[in-house]
Amino acid sequence: MSAPPLATAEIIAVGSELLGLHRLDTNSLFLADRLAALGIDLRAKAVVGDNRHDLAALFRQALSRVDLVVLTGGLGPTDDDLTRDVVADALGRPMSEDADILAWIERRFASRGMRMPGVNRRQAQVPRGAAVLPNPNGTAPGLLLEAGHRLVVLLPGPPREMQPMFDALCRGPLLERAGAERVQRVSLFIAGRSESHVEELAQPIYTRWTGETPPIDTTILASPGQIELHLSVRSADADGAARRLSEARDELLAALGPDVFSTDGRSMEEIVGDLLRAKHLTIAAAESCTGGLLMSRLTDVPGSSDYVLAGVVAYADAAKTALAGVAPELIAACGAVSEPVAVALADGIRARAGADLGVGITGIAGPSGATPDKPVGTVAIALSGPDGPARVRTFRFPGGRAQVKFSSTQAALDMVRRALT
Ligand code: AMP
Ligand code: MG
Repeated sequence: MSAPPLATAEIIAVGSELLGLHRLDTNSLFLADRLAALGIDLRAKAVVGDNRHDLAALFRQALSRVDLVVLTGGLGPTDDDLTRDVVADALGRPMSEDADILAWIERRFASRGMRMPGVNRRQAQVPRGAAVLPNPNGTAPGLLLEAGHRLVVLLPGPPREMQPMFDALCRGPLLERAGAERVQRVSLFIAGRSESHVEELAQPIYTRWTGETPPIDTTILASPGQIELHLSVRSADADGAARRLSEARDELLAALGPDVFSTDGRSMEEIVGDLLRAKHLTIAAAESCTGGLLMSRLTDVPGSSDYVLAGVVAYADAAKTALAGVAPELIAACGAVSEPVAVALADGIRARAGADLGVGITGIAGPSGATPDKPVGTVAIALSGPDGPARVRTFRFPGGRAQVKFSSTQAALDMVRRALT
């Protein structure tokens, strides 16, 4: 008789550092996404310190109520790494040393010219009946254990070890055991509108979808510089669900128009980069209040050398003149934070870099520097191109310094995007 499908799961993140001020459990975010895609319903997640008693209690409780328990962390070689011991003990499985794992860990050390410290032997301990998940990115192997109809997975803590191990070695076995339903998702990223404005347009549309079978679940999220609409459908009919999701996406696209900048998960800087490359255009920027953040975001995208020519941080008034050719008289007459100066920055850097497009950003990131008519968050952004005079806009961004800087770069990238579409 085959086991019933894995329907429900809990995640336990193990590590005392995750209870402190400096480390956050991000593993569960990754795992929540992967489990959802498999149609496995995540019922709870927990963070627990390196404490035998607490971990054992939490693990037993999880095992009593869900089909799949995923634990991350605590597989290291030191005394505070308890996950393997606690799980073996709770399941009543004696452990023994696995010669292959031991040889593999010894080789890993030897390849770096080191002798394996004795403590690493612990990582070769395997509970009886467990399947070993080799770890090409670290010393701690993962473990997969059957416990009656239930499944227990132990994964290493470091995300760069845990994530590839899950995708390469866990997803498959879980897929075999999961039910027929899968969750598919589509996201729309929107710029230039407030969350409530997006909600006003989208809500009458997506509320209709909740009554369908299967229903489309919609979440609206405000992130810095963008509003996100996430649609998901849980269904055993993959093609039908994909079709329905793409119709739903198109309906929202029609309502929200060109404010939607991405429907495939690409970021604003990737979208702008792809547009520049497709149109064989180059870009340069003269940034004041954003301090180079626009260039940093543009160059975060691999292959950006195809279209990024140059950027300068023209922070002081004298630097605006020296680096982008802004006339001192213009700054004296209009103020450094003004549309004419933003235009002069954009035109100046475009000419000096020999780029097709030039961006100029000047503003007050705060907390000081405000005047009665230019409060903190006032930012002038200009885009200069080969056709006609530069476009320029003044924004009033909310939030602290970091948020104003980020919003400014997002608005600048969005101006480029709109000019190219
Ligand atoms: P461990 O497997 O317990 O030795 O964990 C090693 C390191 O992995 C920790 O110091 C953290 O930096 C990282 N880590 C462990 N658990 C998590 C988690 N849930 N989310 C993010 N990072 C983690
Ligand atoms: Mg740990």
